[in-house]
Amino acid sequence: MRLYNTLHRQVQNFKPQQPKTATLYTCGPTVYNYYHIGNLRNAVFNDTLRRALTATGYEVKHTMNITDVGHLVSDADEGEDKLEKGAAREGKTVWEVAEHYTDAFKQDMAALNVQAPNSYKSPKYHDTYARATEFIDEQIKMVEALLEKGYAYQTEQAIYFDVTKLASYGELSGQKLADKEVAARDEVVTDKEKHHPYDFAVWFFTVGRYKDHTMHWPSPWGQGFPGWHLECSAIIHGTLGDPIDIHTGGVDHIGTHHPNEMAQTEAAFGHPLANYWIHNEFILVDNTKMSKSKNNSYTLKDITDKGFHPLALRLLYLQAHYRSELNFTWESLEAAQNTLLNLYGWADLKHQANLAAVRLPDDEIDKFLESVTTALADDLGTTEALAILFRYVSKLAPGMTLDAEDFDRLTAGLDELLALNLSGRPDITAPQKVLIAERETARDARDWPASDKLRSQLAKQGLEVSDTPNGPRWRRSSF
Ligand code: AMP
Ligand code: ZN
Repeated sequence: MRLYNTLHRQVQNFKPQQPKTATLYTCGPTVYNYYHIGNLRNAVFNDTLRRALTATGYEVKHTMNITDVGHLVSDADEGEDKLEKGAAREGKTVWEVAEHYTDAFKQDMAALNVQAPNSYKSPKYHDTYARATEFIDEQIKMVEALLEKGYAYQTEQAIYFDVTKLASYGELSGQKLADKEVAARDEVVTDKEKHHPYDFAVWFFTVGRYKDHTMHWPSPWGQGFPGWHLECSAIIHGTLGDPIDIHTGGVDHIGTHHPNEMAQTEAAFGHPLANYWIHNEFILVDNTKMSKSKNNSYTLKDITDKGFHPLALRLLYLQAHYRSELNFTWESLEAAQNTLLNLYGWADLKHQANLAAVRLPDDEIDKFLESVTTALADDLGTTEALAILFRYVSKLAPGMTLDAEDFDRLTAGLDELLALNLSGRPDITAPQKVLIAERETARDARDWPASDKLRSQLAKQGLEVSDTPNGPRWRRSSF
């Protein structure tokens, strides 16, 4: 497995700490709003990485957090808490907001075939996501360690991590602290007692501007709530143990959130947080940044409301490399949907034994799946993996099909890697088969009006029938 490691700015051979295990952490959603297609790209990228690791022989231990407290409107220490803001907007409690958007997020993940994390079980919510609010003790312990070791200091408003105390701070982004200082000169800093503009809060007190913060917990320093960056470090420590092998996120986290996560762990525990840092590039919409004001930050619901299949979006993501920007247009989604229908047309041939079925040589399926895996193992070469698949699909001449068992093995193997639901496709119904047979009889009798009528009857049911040298073939024209 080769992966581009942002930390070393190059593609590297992946060497996990344990020979057959890969520990993986992904920064999850802040549950105050719906995920948009940019966030969803991150989820599919993570899932593809996990599937590629599994296929290359690793047992993947995967944790993902859910930020249900403490993420302020900016990545720095300014502004409102996103959850509180969502609650005010919707006239709900913060807990209701968190629950609503967590459920919506989980539904999106299921629709896109993104596997849930697997190294934590929430006793309260009965799922496998690690919520920040369930790791308050761990976060408090980290703050204690940071204070004890002299990496943090307390003001009236908060406890801050002192970025000047850690020589390696900022190595991920390659930005020197001195450069960042210049950039930060104009930023608003509410807490005058903060030593350095890039110091960041690990614990806020419910005083001053956060006096009415709904979510707060007792701590050795009084009531308060954790800073956003802290949860990821504490959750990793509590569920996977650090260092982990791989940490992922979008490129927007290279500048602040990930350096802060790294700094906390290194300072508190004396070793790095993760060995490989992998980041996905952004989704653009019509070549511009997604934003609420432009009304172009689409959710999965926006996409399905327009009649698109969620997996058409997954396929669209796979058609680009995760480290390239991907420009979303409705036309490109439409093209991906047609490609997906073509793939389903191929997989549906499993049920058409009336065509000439070939049995593949014994090792052909293994070799084919191996070649797809090899493409994915090369820094997630999803475009190459799909090219291999399309070449394979187009090899089957008109009128030919494969043995049903071979189809089962092929499609099950592909679904483990690409998760496009090619396997287990249902057959058409018995009455539909009767209509196809009646059309054949009409054609044999050269009764063209009858045959055309049957064809349009089938079309109304979403089945296109074409005639091959070996008899009729049906294809679904919709999902
Ligand atoms: P957030 O909830 O803002 O932390 O975002 C969740 C994940 O989506 C993070 O890993 C972000 O880096 C990523 N992300 C945010 N916006 C985009 C975008 N436009 N394209 C791709 N990934 C994004
Ligand atoms: Zn994080």
